[in-house]
Amino acid sequence: MTLPPINTSQLVSRAYRGAILHALAKDELVYLADGVLLVDAQGMITACGPWLEWQEALAGVAVIRCLANQLIVPGFVDTHVHLPQMAVAGCQAPSLLEWLDTHIFAEEARFADADYARTISEWFLSELLANGTTLANVFLTSHPGASQIAFETAARLGNRVVMGQTLMDKQAPDSLLRPAAQLLQETESLCRQWHGANDGRIQYAWVPRFALTSSEELMSGLGELRRQYPEVYLHTHLSEQLGEIAAVKAQFPWASDYTEVYERFGLLGTRTVLAHGIHLCDGELTRLKALDASLAHCPSSNFFLKSGRFRLMEVLRRQLRLGLGSDVGAGPTLSLLTVMKDAQYMQADTLVPLATLFYLATLGGAEALHQGHRLGNFEPGKEADFVVLDFPATPVSHDKPSVQSPGTSEALLSRLVYQGHQQWISETYIRGQRVYQRAPIVQN
Ligand SMILES: [Zn+2]
Repeated sequence: MTLPPINTSQLVSRAYRGAILHALAKDELVYLADGVLLVDAQGMITACGPWLEWQEALAGVAVIRCLANQLIVPGFVDTHVHLPQMAVAGCQAPSLLEWLDTHIFAEEARFADADYARTISEWFLSELLANGTTLANVFLTSHPGASQIAFETAARLGNRVVMGQTLMDKQAPDSLLRPAAQLLQETESLCRQWHGANDGRIQYAWVPRFALTSSEELMSGLGELRRQYPEVYLHTHLSEQLGEIAAVKAQFPWASDYTEVYERFGLLGTRTVLAHGIHLCDGELTRLKALDASLAHCPSSNFFLKSGRFRLMEVLRRQLRLGLGSDVGAGPTLSLLTVMKDAQYMQADTLVPLATLFYLATLGGAEALHQGHRLGNFEPGKEADFVVLDFPATPVSHDKPSVQSPGTSEALLSRLVYQGHQQWISETYIRGQRVYQRAPIVQN
């Protein structure tokens, strides 16, 4: 292979040598048992390839060499998660609507207190990085002050996020409600301040909680904002539980299905991200595909609330934009490693290809959030968002795949999906900048 000429002193500020795994598509992985990832001073990837092919060109360049049990993968993408539910993750209730009433609304009301909002924002956003999540699509609370604090904290910690104030003007406790006109004004003001902030790491989303807490005035106002700001996201829930769907049918009798409620107000299209979508019929999937909307599959949450089984293979076959979401706090953990495993277990009678699960947790999530052109794998020209994972040592290395044994990528990935744990995350990088470190790596 002939390598392109490079001026290493200008292009390469750092070279990371080690085992590397990334996805080019949902059925195409690249595994380098001894690879190198080159990152320039701006945090952009300049190359990713076998060490032996780059060794000569990198003579004289300081190489950061990973340990023998480490693996470099793209940063994980969480396409649906709630910042203000961090402290109540794992609190059980019989159904979605009862869970909201029993645990969630009371917790979200606490964010009227700026100190509490600051404490949870710092905890949540730090934990995203400790879990190797380098892009997250985040619900906030309905308080503009707490939302402001969350954005400031994300900017300070260097998180890459899509976030927005959660909007509700009915069917929730009074302390979380505001008139539609006021909400529309508040969310537009936050959007103007934060969309594209921190050199593009921060993006804004319009976030109506779901149809049942949204008046027609609120939804039509958001439809107008979508037309005014086509580059801004819209993030909401869709078709999570049968009881919820029955309530939507009663509240919006003119709609033939749940999807039509959002459709009517112009909320669906490119950059719309819909969490769950478990009980969608074929007609709804066809319309969502035609509208270029994205789905966020949250299997850990779906198990927890017993919401039903997402039609994963059908959605993949139809090639909708799709990513995975932790959905903390209905999901118990921020770890996309756990979510990949749960996505496998959720499909009780189908074996989901490991490559597909890994793709969904990385490049697929980035594509669902319309950032696949600049994130999600190690193609040159993309931003260097990556994670260094530690595979735990075992006393019987001969029967477990070793990171540096060639030809074991499938076994390695299998272990990552079924046994991967937050504690395996050693370091997290966003645009080439280290934003989390659990243990030092060895320099040579
Ligand atoms: Zn949710």
